[in-house]
Amino acid sequence: MTSWYYAESLTFYFLSMKPSICIVGAGPAGAMAALFLAKANVPCILIDKAVFPRDKVCGDALGGFVPSVLKQYSEDLLLKFRQQSTKIDCFGVKFVSPNLKEIQIPFALPDGQSEGFVSPRMDFDHFLIEEVKSQSLITFLEGWEISSYSKIENGWELENKEGEKLTSALVVWANGAHSQFSKKEANIQVEAEHYAAGLRMYYENVVGFEEGNMIELHFLKDILPGYLWVFPLPNNKANIGLGLRSDWVNKRGINIKKVLDEYLKTAPHLKDRFKDAKALEKVKGYGLPLASKKRKISGERFMLCGDAACLIDPFTGEGIGHAMYSGKFAADQILKCIEQNNFSAEFIAQYDKAVYQKLGKTFKLSTMMQKLAQHAWLLNFIFNRANQSKSIQNTIMSMLGNVDIRKNFKNPMFYLKLLFGK
Ligand SMILES: Cc1cc2nc3c(=O)[nH]c(=O)nc-3n(C[C@H](O)[C@H](O)[C@H](O)COP(=O)(O)OP(=O)(O)OC[C@H]3O[C@@H](n4cnc5c(N)ncnc54)[C@H](O)[C@@H]3O)c2cc1C
Repeated sequence: MTSWYYAESLTFYFLSMKPSICIVGAGPAGAMAALFLAKANVPCILIDKAVFPRDKVCGDALGGFVPSVLKQYSEDLLLKFRQQSTKIDCFGVKFVSPNLKEIQIPFALPDGQSEGFVSPRMDFDHFLIEEVKSQSLITFLEGWEISSYSKIENGWELENKEGEKLTSALVVWANGAHSQFSKKEANIQVEAEHYAAGLRMYYENVVGFEEGNMIELHFLKDILPGYLWVFPLPNNKANIGLGLRSDWVNKRGINIKKVLDEYLKTAPHLKDRFKDAKALEKVKGYGLPLASKKRKISGERFMLCGDAACLIDPFTGEGIGHAMYSGKFAADQILKCIEQNNFSAEFIAQYDKAVYQKLGKTFKLSTMMQKLAQHAWLLNFIFNRANQSKSIQNTIMSMLGNVDIRKNFKNPMFYLKLLFGK
Protein backbone atom coordinates (compact mmCIF):
# COMPACT_ATOMS: atom_id res chain seq x y z
CA MET A 1 0.00 0.00 0.00
CA THR A 2 1.31 3.46 -0.85
CA SER A 3 2.35 5.38 2.26
CA TRP A 4 0.94 8.68 3.44
CA TYR A 5 4.37 10.27 2.98
CA TYR A 6 4.53 9.03 -0.61
CA ALA A 7 1.05 10.32 -1.37
CA GLU A 8 1.88 13.71 0.16
CA SER A 9 5.10 14.04 -1.80
CA LEU A 10 3.27 13.07 -4.99
CA THR A 11 0.77 15.83 -4.34
CA PHE A 12 3.58 18.30 -3.76
CA TYR A 13 5.34 17.16 -6.93
CA PHE A 14 2.30 17.59 -9.12
CA LEU A 15 1.19 20.86 -7.54
CA SER A 16 4.64 22.31 -8.04
CA MET A 17 4.77 21.26 -11.70
CA LYS A 18 1.33 21.79 -13.22
CA PRO A 19 -2.24 21.74 -11.93
CA SER A 20 -2.58 18.18 -10.60
CA ILE A 21 -5.14 15.99 -12.30
CA CYS A 22 -6.66 12.95 -10.58
CA ILE A 23 -8.70 10.28 -12.31
CA VAL A 24 -10.72 8.01 -10.05
CA GLY A 25 -11.42 4.61 -11.64
CA ALA A 26 -9.15 2.81 -14.11
CA GLY A 27 -11.74 0.97 -16.22
CA PRO A 28 -11.93 1.80 -19.94
CA ALA A 29 -13.07 5.41 -19.24
CA GLY A 30 -10.39 6.31 -16.69
CA ALA A 31 -7.59 4.41 -18.41
CA MET A 32 -8.23 6.20 -21.72
CA ALA A 33 -8.45 9.62 -20.02
CA ALA A 34 -5.03 8.99 -18.44
CA LEU A 35 -3.52 7.67 -21.69
CA PHE A 36 -4.70 10.63 -23.78
CA LEU A 37 -3.32 13.02 -21.14
CA ALA A 38 0.03 11.23 -21.21
CA LYS A 39 0.02 11.42 -24.99
CA ALA A 40 -0.33 15.21 -24.65
CA ASN A 41 2.50 15.32 -22.06
CA VAL A 42 0.24 16.05 -19.10
CA PRO A 43 0.98 14.07 -15.93
CA CYS A 44 -1.89 12.64 -13.91
CA ILE A 45 -2.66 10.32 -11.02
CA LEU A 46 -4.90 7.37 -11.90
CA ILE A 47 -6.49 5.64 -8.92
CA ASP A 48 -8.39 2.35 -8.65
CA LYS A 49 -9.65 0.43 -5.66
CA ALA A 50 -8.92 -2.85 -7.42
CA VAL A 51 -5.59 -4.45 -8.15
CA PHE A 52 -5.37 -5.42 -11.82
CA PRO A 53 -6.11 -7.75 -13.52
CA ARG A 54 -9.63 -7.51 -12.12
CA ASP A 55 -13.01 -8.77 -13.32
CA LYS A 56 -15.99 -6.57 -14.26
CA VAL A 57 -19.45 -8.06 -14.83
CA CYS A 58 -20.09 -7.39 -18.51
CA GLY A 59 -21.12 -9.01 -21.79
CA ASP A 60 -17.51 -8.44 -22.95
CA ALA A 61 -18.58 -7.37 -26.47
CA LEU A 62 -16.38 -4.63 -27.90
CA GLY A 63 -18.11 -2.64 -30.66
CA GLY A 64 -16.63 -0.45 -33.40
CA PHE A 65 -15.95 2.52 -31.09
CA VAL A 66 -13.31 0.51 -29.22
CA PRO A 67 -10.86 0.06 -32.13
CA SER A 68 -11.69 3.60 -33.22
CA VAL A 69 -10.56 5.14 -29.88
CA LEU A 70 -7.55 2.82 -29.64
CA LYS A 71 -6.49 3.92 -33.11
CA GLN A 72 -6.80 7.61 -32.19
CA TYR A 73 -4.57 6.97 -29.20
CA SER A 74 -2.01 4.86 -31.05
CA GLU A 75 -2.10 2.74 -34.21
CA ASP A 76 0.52 0.50 -32.58
CA LEU A 77 -1.73 -0.19 -29.60
CA LEU A 78 -4.61 -1.09 -31.92
CA LEU A 79 -2.32 -3.46 -33.80
CA LYS A 80 -1.19 -5.00 -30.52
CA PHE A 81 -4.83 -5.43 -29.49
CA ARG A 82 -5.68 -7.13 -32.78
CA GLN A 83 -2.92 -9.65 -32.02
CA GLN A 84 -4.25 -10.56 -28.55
CA SER A 85 -5.24 -14.21 -28.30
CA THR A 86 -7.47 -13.53 -25.28
CA LYS A 87 -10.16 -11.99 -27.51
CA ILE A 88 -12.21 -13.40 -30.36
CA ASP A 89 -12.86 -11.57 -33.66
CA CYS A 90 -16.57 -11.29 -34.54
CA PHE A 91 -17.87 -10.93 -38.06
CA GLY A 92 -21.54 -10.41 -37.41
CA VAL A 93 -24.53 -10.28 -35.14
CA LYS A 94 -27.56 -12.58 -35.03
CA PHE A 95 -30.89 -11.22 -33.78
CA VAL A 96 -33.59 -13.68 -32.66
CA SER A 97 -37.22 -12.51 -32.34
CA PRO A 98 -39.77 -13.64 -29.72
CA ASN A 99 -41.22 -16.14 -32.26
CA LEU A 100 -37.65 -17.41 -32.82
CA LYS A 101 -37.13 -16.01 -36.33
CA GLU A 102 -33.56 -14.89 -37.03
CA ILE A 103 -31.84 -12.05 -38.83
CA GLN A 104 -28.09 -12.31 -39.31
CA ILE A 105 -26.05 -9.21 -40.05
CA PRO A 106 -22.51 -9.96 -41.17
CA PHE A 107 -19.96 -7.17 -40.81
CA ALA A 108 -16.28 -6.64 -41.53
CA LEU A 109 -14.02 -3.75 -42.43
CA PRO A 110 -13.31 -3.22 -46.16
CA ASP A 111 -9.88 -4.86 -45.67
CA GLY A 112 -11.57 -7.98 -44.25
CA GLN A 113 -10.57 -7.37 -40.64
CA SER A 114 -13.18 -7.58 -37.91
CA GLU A 115 -14.51 -4.42 -36.27
CA GLY A 116 -16.13 -6.20 -33.34
CA PHE A 117 -14.62 -8.44 -30.66
CA VAL A 118 -15.47 -10.31 -27.50
CA SER A 119 -12.84 -10.18 -24.79
CA PRO A 120 -13.22 -11.01 -21.09
CA ARG A 121 -12.93 -7.73 -19.21
CA MET A 122 -10.32 -9.34 -17.00
CA ASP A 123 -8.07 -9.34 -20.09
CA PHE A 124 -9.23 -6.23 -21.98
CA ASP A 125 -9.01 -3.87 -19.01
CA HIS A 126 -5.64 -5.35 -18.07
CA PHE A 127 -4.44 -4.78 -21.63
CA LEU A 128 -5.22 -1.06 -21.19
CA ILE A 129 -3.59 -1.02 -17.75
CA GLU A 130 -0.37 -2.52 -19.15
CA GLU A 131 -0.23 0.47 -21.51
CA VAL A 132 -0.96 2.79 -18.56
CA LYS A 133 1.95 1.26 -16.63
CA SER A 134 4.29 1.85 -19.56
CA GLN A 135 3.64 5.61 -19.40
CA SER A 136 5.96 7.45 -17.01
CA LEU A 137 3.63 10.47 -16.83
CA ILE A 138 0.86 8.37 -15.27
CA THR A 139 1.16 7.63 -11.57
CA PHE A 140 -1.04 4.60 -11.11
CA LEU A 141 -2.27 3.89 -7.59
CA GLU A 142 -4.05 0.52 -7.48
CA GLY A 143 -5.64 -0.93 -4.38
CA TRP A 144 -6.60 2.68 -3.49
CA GLU A 145 -10.29 3.09 -2.70
CA ILE A 146 -11.42 6.70 -2.53
CA SER A 147 -13.83 6.82 0.38
CA SER A 148 -14.41 10.57 0.70
CA TYR A 149 -13.76 13.85 -1.04
CA SER A 150 -14.14 17.49 -0.13
CA LYS A 151 -14.01 20.75 -2.02
CA ILE A 152 -11.01 22.90 -1.14
CA GLU A 153 -9.79 26.18 -2.53
CA ASN A 154 -8.78 25.58 -6.17
CA GLY A 155 -9.60 21.90 -6.21
CA TRP A 156 -10.54 18.78 -4.32
CA GLU A 157 -9.10 16.74 -1.51
CA LEU A 158 -9.51 12.99 -1.94
CA GLU A 159 -9.09 10.51 0.88
CA ASN A 160 -8.73 6.76 0.70
CA LYS A 161 -9.95 4.14 3.16
CA GLU A 162 -6.63 4.19 5.02
CA GLY A 163 -6.90 7.95 5.57
CA GLU A 164 -4.26 8.85 2.97
CA LYS A 165 -4.99 12.10 1.14
CA LEU A 166 -4.34 13.68 -2.23
CA THR A 167 -5.25 17.09 -3.56
CA SER A 168 -6.18 17.76 -7.14
CA ALA A 169 -7.02 20.80 -9.25
CA LEU A 170 -9.51 18.76 -11.27
CA VAL A 171 -10.95 15.29 -10.76
CA VAL A 172 -12.24 12.97 -13.48
CA TRP A 173 -14.73 10.57 -11.90
CA ALA A 174 -14.64 7.36 -13.92
CA ASN A 175 -15.58 5.08 -11.05
CA GLY A 176 -18.42 3.23 -12.67
CA ALA A 177 -22.13 2.66 -12.17
CA HIS A 178 -22.02 2.98 -8.37
CA SER A 179 -20.21 6.33 -8.25
CA GLN A 180 -21.19 8.14 -5.05
CA PHE A 181 -19.83 11.40 -6.45
CA SER A 182 -22.25 11.19 -9.41
CA LYS A 183 -25.19 10.80 -7.02
CA LYS A 184 -24.22 13.21 -4.27
CA GLU A 185 -22.31 15.93 -6.06
CA ALA A 186 -23.54 15.76 -9.66
CA ASN A 187 -27.07 14.89 -8.54
CA ILE A 188 -27.52 11.94 -10.90
CA GLN A 189 -30.04 9.65 -9.24
CA VAL A 190 -30.81 6.03 -10.13
CA GLU A 191 -34.15 6.15 -11.98
CA ALA A 192 -35.53 2.70 -12.72
CA GLU A 193 -36.73 3.63 -16.23
CA HIS A 194 -33.20 4.78 -17.12
CA TYR A 195 -31.37 1.90 -15.49
CA ALA A 196 -31.09 -1.80 -16.29
CA ALA A 197 -30.29 -4.89 -14.30
CA GLY A 198 -27.76 -7.22 -15.93
CA LEU A 199 -26.58 -10.78 -15.30
CA ARG A 200 -23.54 -12.62 -16.57
CA MET A 201 -22.32 -16.22 -16.48
CA TYR A 202 -19.26 -17.72 -18.15
CA TYR A 203 -19.83 -21.14 -19.72
CA GLU A 204 -17.80 -23.66 -21.65
CA ASN A 205 -18.89 -26.17 -24.30
CA VAL A 206 -21.82 -24.14 -25.64
CA VAL A 207 -22.38 -25.36 -29.21
CA GLY A 208 -24.13 -24.08 -32.34
CA PHE A 209 -22.43 -20.72 -32.95
CA GLU A 210 -22.70 -19.26 -36.44
CA GLU A 211 -19.73 -19.03 -38.74
CA GLY A 212 -17.74 -15.83 -38.17
CA ASN A 213 -18.22 -15.94 -34.37
CA MET A 214 -21.45 -13.98 -34.56
CA ILE A 215 -22.66 -12.50 -31.30
CA GLU A 216 -26.31 -13.34 -30.59
CA LEU A 217 -29.07 -11.16 -29.14
CA HIS A 218 -32.24 -13.12 -28.28
CA PHE A 219 -35.30 -10.88 -27.81
CA LEU A 220 -37.46 -13.31 -25.86
CA LYS A 221 -41.05 -12.63 -24.81
CA ASP A 222 -40.69 -12.37 -21.02
CA ILE A 223 -37.72 -10.03 -21.05
CA LEU A 224 -38.64 -7.43 -23.70
CA PRO A 225 -37.37 -4.81 -24.33
CA GLY A 226 -34.27 -6.47 -22.88
CA TYR A 227 -32.56 -9.51 -24.32
CA LEU A 228 -30.58 -12.62 -23.55
CA TRP A 229 -27.12 -12.74 -25.10
CA VAL A 230 -24.87 -15.59 -26.16
CA PHE A 231 -21.38 -14.33 -27.02
CA PRO A 232 -18.55 -16.65 -28.12
CA LEU A 233 -15.14 -16.42 -26.43
CA PRO A 234 -11.77 -18.03 -27.17
CA ASN A 235 -11.01 -21.54 -25.86
CA ASN A 236 -14.52 -22.92 -26.26
CA LYS A 237 -15.91 -20.52 -23.67
CA ALA A 238 -18.90 -18.19 -23.90
CA ASN A 239 -20.35 -15.19 -22.10
CA ILE A 240 -24.06 -15.66 -21.43
CA GLY A 241 -26.26 -13.02 -19.86
CA LEU A 242 -29.45 -11.09 -19.74
CA GLY A 243 -30.33 -7.43 -19.31
CA LEU A 244 -33.67 -5.75 -18.67
CA ARG A 245 -34.73 -2.24 -17.65
CA SER A 246 -35.14 -2.08 -13.87
CA ASP A 247 -38.68 -0.62 -13.93
CA TRP A 248 -39.82 -3.64 -15.96
CA VAL A 249 -38.11 -6.04 -13.58
CA ASN A 250 -39.95 -4.34 -10.70
CA LYS A 251 -43.34 -3.96 -12.42
CA ARG A 252 -43.45 -7.53 -13.67
CA GLY A 253 -41.93 -8.94 -10.48
CA ILE A 254 -39.48 -10.93 -12.61
CA ASN A 255 -36.73 -13.00 -11.05
CA ILE A 256 -34.21 -12.51 -13.86
CA LYS A 257 -31.84 -15.19 -12.55
CA LYS A 258 -34.63 -17.74 -12.73
CA VAL A 259 -35.71 -16.55 -16.18
CA LEU A 260 -32.15 -16.89 -17.52
CA ASP A 261 -31.80 -20.36 -16.06
CA GLU A 262 -35.16 -21.49 -17.46
CA TYR A 263 -34.53 -20.13 -20.95
CA LEU A 264 -31.18 -21.94 -21.18
CA LYS A 265 -32.78 -25.19 -20.05
CA THR A 266 -36.10 -25.05 -21.90
CA ALA A 267 -36.13 -22.59 -24.86
CA PRO A 268 -36.46 -24.81 -27.96
CA HIS A 269 -33.66 -23.04 -29.83
CA LEU A 270 -31.25 -22.96 -26.85
CA LYS A 271 -31.72 -26.08 -24.75
CA ASP A 272 -29.77 -28.44 -27.05
CA ARG A 273 -26.95 -25.94 -27.36
CA PHE A 274 -26.57 -25.90 -23.56
CA LYS A 275 -27.16 -29.63 -22.98
CA ASP A 276 -23.48 -30.43 -22.42
CA ALA A 277 -22.39 -26.92 -21.46
CA LYS A 278 -20.83 -26.28 -18.07
CA ALA A 279 -21.27 -23.09 -16.05
CA LEU A 280 -17.86 -21.81 -14.95
CA GLU A 281 -19.19 -19.52 -12.23
CA LYS A 282 -22.30 -18.61 -10.28
CA VAL A 283 -24.45 -15.99 -11.98
CA LYS A 284 -23.23 -12.44 -11.25
CA GLY A 285 -25.26 -9.22 -11.47
CA TYR A 286 -24.45 -5.53 -11.98
CA GLY A 287 -26.31 -2.34 -12.92
CA LEU A 288 -26.33 -0.48 -16.25
CA PRO A 289 -26.96 3.30 -16.04
CA LEU A 290 -28.61 4.03 -19.38
CA ALA A 291 -28.21 7.10 -21.58
CA SER A 292 -31.95 7.35 -22.34
CA LYS A 293 -31.93 10.62 -20.38
CA LYS A 294 -29.48 13.43 -21.05
CA ARG A 295 -27.59 14.45 -17.91
CA LYS A 296 -25.24 17.22 -16.87
CA ILE A 297 -21.92 15.40 -16.61
CA SER A 298 -19.50 18.08 -15.48
CA GLY A 299 -19.16 20.97 -13.07
CA GLU A 300 -16.55 23.22 -11.51
CA ARG A 301 -13.27 21.26 -11.48
CA PHE A 302 -14.82 17.87 -12.28
CA MET A 303 -16.02 15.67 -15.12
CA LEU A 304 -17.87 12.35 -15.08
CA CYS A 305 -16.88 9.65 -17.55
CA GLY A 306 -18.27 6.30 -18.69
CA ASP A 307 -20.84 4.63 -16.44
CA ALA A 308 -20.40 7.36 -13.81
CA ALA A 309 -21.88 9.66 -16.50
CA CYS A 310 -24.60 7.14 -17.53
CA LEU A 311 -23.37 6.62 -21.08
CA ILE A 312 -24.68 3.09 -21.77
CA ASP A 313 -26.65 2.55 -24.98
CA PRO A 314 -30.31 2.07 -23.92
CA PHE A 315 -31.00 -0.53 -26.62
CA THR A 316 -27.82 -2.58 -26.98
CA GLY A 317 -26.33 -2.13 -23.49
CA GLU A 318 -22.95 -1.17 -24.97
CA GLY A 319 -20.91 1.09 -22.73
CA ILE A 320 -17.22 0.26 -23.17
CA GLY A 321 -16.63 2.23 -26.38
CA HIS A 322 -18.67 5.16 -25.04
CA ALA A 323 -16.66 5.11 -21.81
CA MET A 324 -13.42 5.20 -23.83
CA TYR A 325 -14.66 8.10 -25.97
CA SER A 326 -15.70 10.04 -22.86
CA GLY A 327 -12.22 9.48 -21.40
CA LYS A 328 -10.70 10.93 -24.55
CA PHE A 329 -13.03 13.96 -24.48
CA ALA A 330 -12.25 14.54 -20.79
CA ALA A 331 -8.53 14.59 -21.60
CA ASP A 332 -9.14 17.03 -24.48
CA GLN A 333 -11.05 19.31 -22.11
CA ILE A 334 -8.34 19.14 -19.43
CA LEU A 335 -5.78 20.38 -21.96
CA LYS A 336 -8.00 23.40 -22.65
CA CYS A 337 -8.53 24.04 -18.92
CA ILE A 338 -4.78 24.02 -18.28
CA GLU A 339 -4.01 26.14 -21.32
CA GLN A 340 -6.52 28.82 -20.36
CA ASN A 341 -6.24 28.30 -16.60
CA ASN A 342 -10.01 28.05 -16.51
CA PHE A 343 -11.64 25.33 -14.40
CA SER A 344 -15.09 26.90 -14.16
CA ALA A 345 -18.28 24.89 -14.63
CA GLU A 346 -19.23 27.01 -17.67
CA PHE A 347 -15.93 26.33 -19.41
CA ILE A 348 -15.86 22.62 -18.57
CA ALA A 349 -19.43 22.25 -19.91
CA GLN A 350 -17.77 22.07 -23.35
CA TYR A 351 -17.00 18.49 -22.34
CA ASP A 352 -20.74 17.68 -22.12
CA LYS A 353 -21.16 19.14 -25.58
CA ALA A 354 -18.36 17.04 -27.07
CA VAL A 355 -19.72 13.82 -25.54
CA TYR A 356 -23.31 14.37 -26.67
CA GLN A 357 -22.25 15.61 -30.09
CA LYS A 358 -20.49 12.30 -30.67
CA LEU A 359 -22.93 9.96 -28.93
CA GLY A 360 -26.23 11.85 -28.60
CA LYS A 361 -27.69 10.74 -31.93
CA THR A 362 -27.06 7.07 -31.14
CA PHE A 363 -28.59 7.50 -27.67
CA LYS A 364 -31.78 9.07 -29.08
CA LEU A 365 -32.27 6.39 -31.72
CA SER A 366 -31.50 3.60 -29.29
CA THR A 367 -34.03 5.00 -26.83
CA MET A 368 -36.61 4.83 -29.60
CA MET A 369 -35.54 1.29 -30.57
CA GLN A 370 -35.83 0.24 -26.93
CA LYS A 371 -39.43 1.54 -26.91
CA LEU A 372 -40.30 -0.32 -30.12
CA ALA A 373 -38.72 -3.50 -28.80
CA GLN A 374 -41.23 -3.62 -25.92
CA HIS A 375 -43.77 -5.02 -28.37
CA ALA A 376 -43.33 -8.71 -29.15
CA TRP A 377 -45.91 -8.51 -31.99
CA LEU A 378 -43.94 -5.72 -33.70
CA LEU A 379 -40.64 -7.58 -33.48
CA ASN A 380 -42.30 -10.76 -34.75
CA PHE A 381 -43.87 -8.85 -37.63
CA ILE A 382 -40.57 -7.21 -38.66
CA PHE A 383 -38.61 -10.48 -38.40
CA ASN A 384 -41.33 -12.42 -40.30
CA ARG A 385 -41.26 -9.92 -43.14
CA ALA A 386 -37.46 -9.94 -43.19
CA ASN A 387 -37.55 -13.71 -43.54
CA GLN A 388 -40.03 -13.51 -46.43
CA SER A 389 -38.35 -10.84 -48.53
CA LYS A 390 -34.68 -10.44 -49.38
CA SER A 391 -35.07 -6.73 -50.11
CA ILE A 392 -36.76 -6.07 -46.75
CA GLN A 393 -34.07 -8.13 -45.05
CA ASN A 394 -31.39 -5.99 -46.70
CA THR A 395 -33.17 -2.79 -45.62
CA ILE A 396 -33.40 -3.96 -42.01
CA MET A 397 -29.82 -5.21 -42.05
CA SER A 398 -28.51 -1.84 -43.12
CA MET A 399 -30.77 -0.05 -40.64
CA LEU A 400 -29.63 -2.17 -37.70
CA GLY A 401 -26.02 -1.82 -38.75
CA ASN A 402 -25.95 1.93 -39.39
CA VAL A 403 -26.99 4.70 -37.01
CA ASP A 404 -27.67 7.20 -39.78
CA ILE A 405 -30.23 5.02 -41.50
CA ARG A 406 -31.55 3.51 -38.26
CA LYS A 407 -33.72 6.63 -37.91
CA ASN A 408 -35.91 5.09 -40.64
CA PHE A 409 -37.48 3.04 -37.84
CA LYS A 410 -39.28 6.32 -37.01
CA ASN A 411 -40.46 6.75 -40.58
CA PRO A 412 -44.03 5.55 -41.38
CA MET A 413 -42.83 4.77 -44.94
CA PHE A 414 -40.66 2.03 -43.54
CA TYR A 415 -43.71 0.27 -42.08
CA LEU A 416 -45.64 0.72 -45.35
CA LYS A 417 -42.74 -0.92 -47.13
CA LEU A 418 -42.84 -3.73 -44.58
CA LEU A 419 -46.57 -4.24 -45.15
CA PHE A 420 -46.60 -4.07 -48.91
CA GLY A 421 -42.97 -4.41 -50.04
CA LYS A 422 -41.63 -7.46 -51.85
C1 LIG B 1 -24.30 -7.27 -17.26
C2 LIG B 1 -23.62 -6.22 -18.10
C3 LIG B 1 -23.30 -6.49 -19.42
C4 LIG B 1 -22.66 -5.52 -20.21
N1 LIG B 1 -22.28 -5.86 -21.48
C5 LIG B 1 -21.59 -4.97 -22.23
C6 LIG B 1 -21.07 -5.34 -23.49
O1 LIG B 1 -21.17 -6.50 -23.93
N2 LIG B 1 -20.43 -4.40 -24.22
C7 LIG B 1 -20.25 -3.12 -23.76
O2 LIG B 1 -19.69 -2.29 -24.49
N3 LIG B 1 -20.70 -2.76 -22.54
C8 LIG B 1 -21.34 -3.65 -21.75
N4 LIG B 1 -21.75 -3.30 -20.49
C9 LIG B 1 -21.44 -1.95 -19.99
C10 LIG B 1 -19.96 -1.84 -19.58
O3 LIG B 1 -19.64 -2.87 -18.67
C11 LIG B 1 -19.69 -0.48 -18.95
O4 LIG B 1 -20.29 0.52 -19.73
C12 LIG B 1 -18.19 -0.19 -18.84
O5 LIG B 1 -17.58 -1.07 -17.94
C13 LIG B 1 -17.98 1.25 -18.37
O6 LIG B 1 -16.61 1.49 -18.13
P1 LIG B 1 -16.17 2.52 -16.99
O7 LIG B 1 -14.70 2.69 -17.14
O8 LIG B 1 -17.03 3.71 -17.01
O9 LIG B 1 -16.52 1.80 -15.60
P2 LIG B 1 -15.98 0.44 -14.98
O10 LIG B 1 -15.55 -0.48 -16.03
O11 LIG B 1 -17.04 -0.01 -14.04
O12 LIG B 1 -14.69 0.87 -14.15
C14 LIG B 1 -14.81 1.63 -12.98
C15 LIG B 1 -13.54 1.45 -12.15
O13 LIG B 1 -13.63 2.30 -11.00
C16 LIG B 1 -13.10 1.63 -9.88
N5 LIG B 1 -13.68 2.25 -8.68
C17 LIG B 1 -14.98 2.24 -8.31
N6 LIG B 1 -15.14 2.93 -7.16
C18 LIG B 1 -13.91 3.38 -6.81
C19 LIG B 1 -13.43 4.14 -5.71
N7 LIG B 1 -14.24 4.59 -4.74
N8 LIG B 1 -12.11 4.40 -5.64
C20 LIG B 1 -11.26 3.96 -6.60
N9 LIG B 1 -11.67 3.22 -7.66
C21 LIG B 1 -12.98 2.95 -7.77
C22 LIG B 1 -13.51 0.17 -10.09
O14 LIG B 1 -12.66 -0.71 -9.38
C23 LIG B 1 -13.39 0.03 -11.62
O15 LIG B 1 -12.13 -0.49 -11.99
C24 LIG B 1 -22.37 -4.24 -19.67
C25 LIG B 1 -22.70 -3.97 -18.33
C26 LIG B 1 -23.30 -4.95 -17.55
C27 LIG B 1 -23.59 -4.66 -16.11
